[in-house]
Amino acid sequence: MKSTISAILASCLLLGVASEARADTCDTVRGTDPGVMTSFWCTQPWIDFYWDAYDFDKGDWDDGFGWEAACDRRRPLARTFQAIQLLNYASPNEALKTNDFNGNILRWGGNYTIREFDELDARCGDGSKRAYTTWGGFDDYTELYIPFFYNENVVERAGTLIHEARHADWCGHSGNDGSNKCPAKSASCDEKYLDGCSGIGSPSGRGAAGYQVLWLWWYAFEADAQHSSSTMKAFARDEANRILNTMFDVNPCFNITSNGSKIITC
Ligand SMILES: [Zn+2]
Repeated sequence: MKSTISAILASCLLLGVASEARADTCDTVRGTDPGVMTSFWCTQPWIDFYWDAYDFDKGDWDDGFGWEAACDRRRPLARTFQAIQLLNYASPNEALKTNDFNGNILRWGGNYTIREFDELDARCGDGSKRAYTTWGGFDDYTELYIPFFYNENVVERAGTLIHEARHADWCGHSGNDGSNKCPAKSASCDEKYLDGCSGIGSPSGRGAAGYQVLWLWWYAFEADAQHSSSTMKAFARDEANRILNTMFDVNPCFNITSNGSKIITC
C-alpha cells in the first residue's frame, strides 16, 4: 500500500498539471478506508460494462491510476469502481437496466451518474478539492482527485459521485451568498436543501449538496446487507450530517441517524 501510494505521489509533483493521468507521483494520502466493501467483485465483464458506461479512457487512468491493475484496491480506479458498485447495487431493489429511474435515489442514483457524466477522469489535483465538474461547454468532464481516492471512505466517494453528477446535469451551486452565508463559507454550498441549483440552463429543485444528502440518507435507511454494514451506514450518517450542518445557507434543521431516522435540530 505505502509503496504504491508514494509512487503515485512522486509523479504528480514532478509533472505538475499534466494533461493526462499521472498517478505514479501524487501527494497527500490519508488512507483511512477501513477495509469494508468485502463484496467488491472485479470481473472482466463487470469492468468492461462500467468502463464504457462511465466513459473512462485509458489516457485518463493509466500511469499508476489503475488501468494497469483495475482490481487493485490501492489504486484510484478500483477505489472508484467500489463507489460505482455502491451506486448501482446498494438498493434492496436494484435497477436492472440503465434507463430505469423508478423508485428512490438509492435505486436510480447509479443510472443518474451514468446518464449525466460525460467522462470521468483521474487527476492528481492540488489537494484542495475532491472532484470538479465542468459543464455547458464543448468538452464536459468530471475530474476526480487524490483526496477523493484516498481521503474519502467508499460511502463518501459514492456521495461525491452523486454530487458531481448533479453538476454534470448543469446544476451549479447557489449558496454562500447574500447575508446568510453557509456555516462552511464555501463555494460548494447551496441555498436550501430542496432548492440548490443556479446557472444558465440549470434544472430546479435539489442541488448537488441536496442530492448528496438524499442518497446518503436512503443508503443509511435501506442499503442491502451485501453493500453496507453498520460502519458504512455510520459513514453515511456522518457525511450527510456534515453537509446538512455546514453546506446550506438556510439551515435544513434536521440530521439523520445511522438507520436513516430523522432528527429535528431546530
Ligand atoms: Zn459541488
